[in-house]
Amino acid sequence: MPRLQFHKERFLHKMNDVIVRGTNLEGTMRVYVAITTQLANEAHKIHNTSPVASAALGRTLTGAAIMGVSSLKNETDSVTVQIKGDGDIGMIVAVSDAKGSVRGYVENPLVDLPLNSKGKLDVGGAVGKGYLNVIKDLGLKEPYIGQVPIISGEIAEDLTNYYATSEQVPSAIALGVLVDTDYSVKASGGFMIQLMPGATDEMANRLMETINSLEPVTTMIDKGMSAEDIFFKITEGFSMLMENAAITPQYKCTCSKERMERALISIGRKELTSLIEEDGHAELQCHFCNNKYDFNKEELEELLRQARK
Ligand SMILES: [Zn+2]
Repeated sequence: MPRLQFHKERFLHKMNDVIVRGTNLEGTMRVYVAITTQLANEAHKIHNTSPVASAALGRTLTGAAIMGVSSLKNETDSVTVQIKGDGDIGMIVAVSDAKGSVRGYVENPLVDLPLNSKGKLDVGGAVGKGYLNVIKDLGLKEPYIGQVPIISGEIAEDLTNYYATSEQVPSAIALGVLVDTDYSVKASGGFMIQLMPGATDEMANRLMETINSLEPVTTMIDKGMSAEDIFFKITEGFSMLMENAAITPQYKCTCSKERMERALISIGRKELTSLIEEDGHAELQCHFCNNKYDFNKEELEELLRQARK
């Protein structure tokens, strides 16, 4: 008799990343739920982030993915979330397209801080005080730019404040990243609930009551709840319609040698000339994926010729 082998590992694989969305029957409430464990872990691997940096970057990437899916239409549209605080982590950047393809970085990925008073990774402490910028490139002449002061640096609260202040949309946003003992990302995700015109105070109060009674979103994901489970859990008591087509967010860089060429041309003839004369070559590294692009002297001279045009 052949023996059946039971591979336990096979059943422990992390849940696939997904964004589900829907509205209530009346259309006065929009809901987005994201599971982003894989993309947050990918960001951790690319940038070799410390636990607190993994949490800050993972939350910002998740927030950006939800914002991209909820507010962008065209393939070439993008939304950038920039968090410029005075804390040790430096600037945090996350960019998303309409399908939740995201990329991002933090200025100091090795930032290390003691846990906060609640025993959690101190993202707010790492971020510090400063400004949060949201830049939406919708293919128009000028991008849309919104800026609000950082409230807590915990990211979700800051994005909630951005929507309330800059876009006048009452929102409830939760974002979380759970870092494992080996520093990989064990669970990551979040949700955004937005009230649309026609929503009542009674609805808002009932919703707040439900949200305040919830476990942290990473606890729900870590327990094995699916995005659909979380969608209906956070909207308990409301009649909800979930869209059938789920979205698969992912970590994806858009860099290429051609983009780097354009960046080099844009530094100007003077800078290019001194690069050629002093260094004889150039090495550019992408902030988002750390890929390196080399340009030899001949290539730089060709770019100089193009810059002259
Ligand atoms: Zn790149």
